[in-house]
Amino acid sequence: MQADNPSYFKTRIAPTPSGFLHLGNVLSFAITAELARRGDAKIILRIDDLDRERVNPEYLRDIFDTLNFLGFNWDEGPRDAADFEQNYSQLKRLEMYNKFLDKLCQKDLVYACTCSRKQLNEGVDCKCFDKNWQLSTPGAAWRIVTYKDTVFIKNYQGEVTEMQLPGSMQNFVVRKKDGFPAYQLTSLADDLFYGIDLIVRGNDLWDSTIAQHVLAKDLGLDEFGKITFYHHPLLTGEAGEKLSKSAGSTSIKHLREQGKSPADIFNLIAEMIKPELIAENWQQLAGAIV
Ligand SMILES: [Zn+2]
Repeated sequence: MQADNPSYFKTRIAPTPSGFLHLGNVLSFAITAELARRGDAKIILRIDDLDRERVNPEYLRDIFDTLNFLGFNWDEGPRDAADFEQNYSQLKRLEMYNKFLDKLCQKDLVYACTCSRKQLNEGVDCKCFDKNWQLSTPGAAWRIVTYKDTVFIKNYQGEVTEMQLPGSMQNFVVRKKDGFPAYQLTSLADDLFYGIDLIVRGNDLWDSTIAQHVLAKDLGLDEFGKITFYHHPLLTGEAGEKLSKSAGSTSIKHLREQGKSPADIFNLIAEMIKPELIAENWQQLAGAIV
């Protein structure tokens, strides 16, 4: 443990209700809770629900069931699914997101893309920027014009990392085909809205971290650059593959149905990290890692 822990105002646990929570999510929550404890920060539960095709009420309830079962507490945010729908859904903040989209339009930084997912998956080169489609084209996504900008990311470990947007993220989508703002924009907007100054997420989200810094720069939101980031290693399965929500056997719901206790679940995660590691609660698990 560090002798001198920096203090923070607020961090967040931010799951998406598009699958049952799995062991990898729990590791992330444990690290978040531990860094909040060390930094004397409040925790907000922030749930992303604008992926309207994939969001499912059963998955939403699963978030609360799992957090309560495993003994995670939070200071701010919805207490249950009904409270979420009524008071915290991202649908309540569409006006804020749309203002950011308007600002990008005013700065002439977005263009409409009519490529289908299938075309993009097949590697078809998107030529939509040159085609200059109307932004109002039905079913078009909006992409942001990205340049080879450098962004600076403040790391928990103390240093500032200079990063560039990877090729796969160039001209990322800021408004989806369904008309809703895309993840990078809503995540950035919500973190600023809630006054977050510490973000804990997996190493797989580095690209998003960079994209969000690019977006913040374009929007003139300097305060986003003051947020501290902690990217943690991911849990991997036996074959070394990344755990995903589709891997049903690692879902907490499934493990509970098998009769596993919270201690069993924390031990399972601990074992995946180091065979000799024993952890019966999130405090022990995170304490052994960060
Ligand atoms: Zn396109």
